[in-house]
Amino acid sequence: MTTIGKTIDGKAFAAVLRERVAEGVADFVASQSRKPGLAVVLVGEDAASGVYVRNKGKMTVAVGMESFEYKRPASIGQEDLLDLIEELNGDPRVDGILVQLPLPAHIDEAAVIAAIDPTKDVDGFHVVNSGRLATGQKALVPCTPLGCIMLLKDELGDLSGLEAVVVGRSNIVGKPMAQLLLAENCTVTLAHSRTRDLASVVHRADIVVAAVGRAEMVKGAWIKPGATVIDVGINRVTDTEDGKARIVGDVATAEAIAHVRAITPVPGGVGPMTIAVLLRNTLVAAHARAGLPEPVGL
Ligand code: NDP
Repeated sequence: MTTIGKTIDGKAFAAVLRERVAEGVADFVASQSRKPGLAVVLVGEDAASGVYVRNKGKMTVAVGMESFEYKRPASIGQEDLLDLIEELNGDPRVDGILVQLPLPAHIDEAAVIAAIDPTKDVDGFHVVNSGRLATGQKALVPCTPLGCIMLLKDELGDLSGLEAVVVGRSNIVGKPMAQLLLAENCTVTLAHSRTRDLASVVHRADIVVAAVGRAEMVKGAWIKPGATVIDVGINRVTDTEDGKARIVGDVATAEAIAHVRAITPVPGGVGPMTIAVLLRNTLVAAHARAGLPEPVGL
């Protein structure tokens, strides 16, 4: 008998998370007489980045926070960008700083991230935060993997003892994802482009997280029956039948659905979680800066 797995509605989960953040923001405003603030820095004219930044701004305002946008030309010099970060580090209205990546080639991305005050690093990319995460300390955690963990815990409850395979080892998704799964007591394998026999590595997993950036490369037959699959990939492909562009993930979902317990769709799975978690992280950073305990239920 073929069983069909369920899809995980990340869009609905993200909407609930944003509502909870909005409640937390209202409490913060009542006790601190100011709104939490998120500053987003956009360098250059990249159309996709512009759309992300506009969406972030709208959602920041929608949960009751202050949104500050700093647009700079692609020609900005490294020192000028570092001066802006320094200014935001010292700005009491700003609780979170996000520099939209990628930056132009002449800018040293690592130096820019290193310049952000770790207590305002709501993307969780600063080495202080990645080091804290790796050593089991309280940290601001990268938004996409934290969103994935929330979806997994909602679906599976306790993750303790489960076999988890993360495909992709980037600093922004794969590595922090592996750390978070380890913190949940999973047995974690981090696979990448040099992994031998990826199909059989994936096949032993109860939890598969695909963060590669290759359209539908994880095949349905690789998935162990009953596994839960989180598809982080966002790939633009052209449909062979109608010639239209569409977005697909890193997992061949149409094949995988018959094998899985549950899977995140693309779009509508992990994607909506990222901005919701960014807002959550900004509220967490605002609480820490105000000397308040972490907000509950987030
Ligand atoms: P990167 O390009 O930084 O990393 C990709 C990883 O995939 C690398 O570790 C690479 O291995 C590995 N890889 C490449 N080819 C293979 C292969 N054939 N087999 C196994 N592993 C392979 O990507 P990101 O982590 O930044 O993003 C991954 C995907 O997630 C992208 O599609 C991106 O658009 C999406 N994304 C989605 C977000 C969301 O909000 N939903 C947020 C962030 C990313 P190696 O290290 O050996 O080169």
